[in-house]
Amino acid sequence: MRIQAFAAPTMVTWQLTRDCDLACLHCCTDSAPGKALPGELSRAQALKLCAEIAAAGVPYAMIVGGEPTLVPHFTQVCKTLSDGGVLLKIETNGQNFDVNALKGLGIRSVQISLDGASQAVYGRQRVNGVLEKAVAACRATVAAGLPLEITFAPTKLNIFEAEAVIDLALSLGAFRFNTGRLMRLGTAAKLWDRLEPTKSEYAAFLRVLARKERELAGRLELCYKPFSLEEEMADRAGQPSGTLLVLPDGRVKVAAPLPFTCADLTSQTILQAWESYKIAWADPRVRAGLERLAAEPSAAAQANHWISLDAVNALPAVV
Ligand code: SF4
Repeated sequence: MRIQAFAAPTMVTWQLTRDCDLACLHCCTDSAPGKALPGELSRAQALKLCAEIAAAGVPYAMIVGGEPTLVPHFTQVCKTLSDGGVLLKIETNGQNFDVNALKGLGIRSVQISLDGASQAVYGRQRVNGVLEKAVAACRATVAAGLPLEITFAPTKLNIFEAEAVIDLALSLGAFRFNTGRLMRLGTAAKLWDRLEPTKSEYAAFLRVLARKERELAGRLELCYKPFSLEEEMADRAGQPSGTLLVLPDGRVKVAAPLPFTCADLTSQTILQAWESYKIAWADPRVRAGLERLAAEPSAAAQANHWISLDAVNALPAVV
């Protein structure tokens, strides 16, 4: 596995909180208002982790949630990472986004979710969400000279507006549009029967994506391959990603659609967590979990019931 040769992660995806101001029906992290995880990292713990990430030479971090901008130390986290030479991608729902907080930082991109081109559709899927606010956040991002990415999670409720959202992304000045099959994780898994598009809806969606990809070549990058989580994990089985997925309370997950955690950053350093992560990918339980996911994609519905792997105990704790 290529990751064995790496002394540190190539990227950190950090879920700063599970709290969110929206309650999206398709949410893969079970986020919603008031759903901060017990034991989320404090400001001091978060800043210590920032310093470790920078000192380890991790080149790139994605700051995500929940809604990361709700965390009181969000700006300080971004600044500390950026000052340490870490490039950032920020994922936000754009409901209360202050782009000024990111001024002067090393921002590789800001990703804003647009799951509809009309308020009726957007608001039905993004409960409490106001499309105008998300669009205003997109405009402010581009006006500030920051690269904008749009993400679109297809469900039965919005898939027919996909083309309109792609056109909206283009008109807003986005450089990339990210999408793929709806992930059966978190809230989406609980509401699966209401949300899962039909085969023919997906087929029409893929036709739209292929056509728009041709039409907009050189103007807007359409990212939708691998299309499903299962396809992505099949690729990962042979070549695990160099990304460490950090949960809001500092635990580290092996992969989003698997339930396993392999380290705890409240008691281990980022480099120890990285070693645990490498061990975890050779663990028979992880390999069995991947095989089960390939045979039975609905198994991903259990992925947010985290289980610690023993690998975490194989390394000495930090004192
Ligand atoms: S999908 Fe994003 S914005 Fe919606 S509830 Fe989940 S974390 Fe919040």
